[in-house]
Amino acid sequence: MKAIETINLSHTYPDGTKAIGNINFNVEKGKNIAILGPNGAGKSTLLHHFNGLLMPTSGKVNVLGQEVTKQNLDEIRQKVGLVFQDPDDQLFARSVALDIAFGPTNLKLSKAEIAQRVNWAIEVTDLKGLENKSPSNLSGGQKRRASIAGVLAMKPEIIILDEPMSNLDPKTSSKVLKLLMQLNKELGLTLIIATHDVDLVPLFADEICILNKGQILMQGPPQEIFSQAELLRSVDLRLPRITHLFEILNKEDSLRGDKQYPLTIGEARREILEMLENKK
Ligand code: ADP
Repeated sequence: MKAIETINLSHTYPDGTKAIGNINFNVEKGKNIAILGPNGAGKSTLLHHFNGLLMPTSGKVNVLGQEVTKQNLDEIRQKVGLVFQDPDDQLFARSVALDIAFGPTNLKLSKAEIAQRVNWAIEVTDLKGLENKSPSNLSGGQKRRASIAGVLAMKPEIIILDEPMSNLDPKTSSKVLKLLMQLNKELGLTLIIATHDVDLVPLFADEICILNKGQILMQGPPQEIFSQAELLRSVDLRLPRITHLFEILNKEDSLRGDKQYPLTIGEARREILEMLENKK
């Protein structure tokens, strides 16, 4: 089943900027997909169509087989949660708990159900002890987790995240990434993550969609995408650093055969250990 499908989706902003054109994108339910592209490629514009925050100027968007229209936005937004790029655009209540409760309260759920969802979201995102704090006094990583918690409390099937690891220090970034992988693997949520961080993508993505100048350049599994180094460079992207090192070892030092390049440090480590083993 397709979680999200767009058919010839285009969006032109009122000032005439053609941000995306004729996008045919789709993601299967339960997958973890990265939308990768340079600044201004149209990533946010595309994401904002997935829960009807923006409506197509032409073409259409289907969510779990249902077309997004102005009439069914409430229903769509229960299925698709959007985590904004800047948590300050999302968090506005007096306390973390009230912020997380905002969505479920709007759904007019019972008090007991709201409390249960808030506690669950706090638990999953590791925010225990911060329930009564004002969101404005949280650290960058805590804010990010609080904005994810608010979306989780709506019990969506799909979560869209716009640059969720940006402006976080490496440790916090790893913690958020771990949380996202857990939501995908353990809860089966479909995740669509926009990013320009090439090094992080192979750590989580089942599939990558490369966006450039409002068009899809390619979509496929990480190995397939990162075997196209020149095409990536032509749109101001690059290989993951560890992959680049192996490309150099291959091309300039003729040190390895034409095997697929490792994309992560884990894969590189295994290859190096194998090389050493073979030299013994
Ligand atoms: P990305 O998320 O990949 O950085 P965006 O979707 O934000 O790209 O932007 C795509 C294009 O649309 C850019 O040229 C940007 O300047 C333009 N754009 C984004 N938002 C608006 C807006 N509200 N009004 C007019 N143009 C916009």
